[in-house]
Amino acid sequence: MPSLIPVIAIDGPAASGKGTLARRLARHFDFAYLDTGALYRAVGLQVMRTGGDTENQQDAVKAAQQLADLDLTDPELKSESTGGLASKVATIQAVRDILLKFQQNFAQNPPGDKGGAILDGRDIGTIICPDADVKIFITASVETRAKRRFIEEFGPAGNDEDYTAILNELTTRDKRDMNRASSPLKAAENAHLLDTTNSDIETVFEQALQLISDKITTASLP
Ligand code: C5P
Repeated sequence: MPSLIPVIAIDGPAASGKGTLARRLARHFDFAYLDTGALYRAVGLQVMRTGGDTENQQDAVKAAQQLADLDLTDPELKSESTGGLASKVATIQAVRDILLKFQQNFAQNPPGDKGGAILDGRDIGTIICPDADVKIFITASVETRAKRRFIEEFGPAGNDEDYTAILNELTTRDKRDMNRASSPLKAAENAHLLDTTNSDIETVFEQALQLISDKITTASLP
């Protein structure tokens, strides 16, 4: 049965286009949007900046407990090296437990009086919001994702070495995210799979729009 507050879960590997899709959908439906990767990134960066070890549970938990005071708009959050720090703290169950509450509260009480919530991440459809009204698992080949991240990070100044470094970092991060014991990256059983390797954002957006409009028929939809 659809919940009172529509919740859309978007999961997928790094640089799959889930953030771009989620932001566009949130604008379209006027729903609140949470980039859950930013939470893990902020925790990873905080551990590094305070001289801690991202693989040490005590250091990572301490940073996660400071979540409310961390700057989720820090430009350094976006870099691929911060993504690596995030994926290390994300393997620690105690960190995930702290962030789970924040994410579930966001989904149940979308800020700004919004009529629904869209969350993107790795475990939204499986763990955070298992009852989400619509679950989308978005993916693309690792080379396509590396190219996207490379252009985002380096623009025209990037060279082949930079691309190879990004490709290697993404491959390592994918492996860590898919093989960890706690909430590994995987599609929920009832998720709709969207492969963006050969599709532009417009096509993916239209596909997602259709899936959501088919499922959610509340008065809150435009
Ligand atoms: O999505 P993004 O690339 O910003 O995520 C950074 C890292 O945070 C991921 O590689 C993953 O290890 C972790 N993450 C997670 N669960 C989420 C969101 C992100 O484990 N829901």
